[in-house]
Amino acid sequence: MDIQFKGKRALVTGAGKGIGRAIAMKLALCGAETVAISRTQADLDSLKAESPSIETHVIDLSVWSSAKKALEALGHFDLLVNNAGVSRIAPFTEVTEEDFDYVFNTNFKALFNVSQVVAKSMKEKKSGGAIVHVSSAASKQGLNNHAVYCSTKGAVDSLTMVMALELGPHKIRTNAVNPTATMTDMGKYAWSDPQKSKPLLNRIPLGRFAEVDDVVEAVLWLLSDRASYINGVTLPVEGGLLVA
Ligand code: NDP
Repeated sequence: MDIQFKGKRALVTGAGKGIGRAIAMKLALCGAETVAISRTQADLDSLKAESPSIETHVIDLSVWSSAKKALEALGHFDLLVNNAGVSRIAPFTEVTEEDFDYVFNTNFKALFNVSQVVAKSMKEKKSGGAIVHVSSAASKQGLNNHAVYCSTKGAVDSLTMVMALELGPHKIRTNAVNPTATMTDMGKYAWSDPQKSKPLLNRIPLGRFAEVDDVVEAVLWLLSDRASYINGVTLPVEGGLLVA
């Protein structure tokens, strides 16, 4: 039986490219009234051309106050996917304050801000809802030169538990997915050098990196009523990497 989201309004952040774009398109295909946010207008124009029912907005989520105002104007959502993310690769001792703020502002602070706005409305309207954060397997392992990125995703996993605890009584479920390397623009930036990626690949029992669809399927399942008793999990989507 296909998952259906008819009558649900969904917000997807970072939906211009990669995983977020595929999630937005699948949500629309499954009947959700889907709103997509990203930073680059051209990406949203091409998303709209491919999936005309999707409403699109350019919002830079890394700027707390303007993003909050813009999000509040978008109205109520039943489903939220916090997917927007960035990465900077540098040895721990070389990370600058600018690197730190750049990655934390989008990967964690923005996710916190978006979640607050959406969850407040869910609570006030007593609508219930489902929230999924796109975290990373990088929250559960040390990765060379990923000090800030890994830390942001660790923060996302912690927040997932607290949101599940505080919002659960309001029938709002919060979960996260934790994919390993997925060959989007971000994945290529971090892992296209075979010298770097081979040791990681060798540790994955299923012998391949994640496909975008592997992540999309996990997110849609967590958003759906099929996962109605799942709350507060950080679900690895990593072919068994973390058991090795
Ligand atoms: P991409 O770089 O392919 O796409 C990220 C999208 O997020 C882009 O559309 C980008 O817009 C948008 N975005 C970034 N910052 C902001 C911002 N401040 N405000 C609004 N939109 C923003 O990344 P992926 O699809 O690979 O990654 C999606 C999520 O999955 C991220 O959270 C990432 O950490 C996570 N992840 C990715 C993995 C991978 O290997 N690819 C593995 C594990 C987790 P623009 O391009 O215009 O900046």
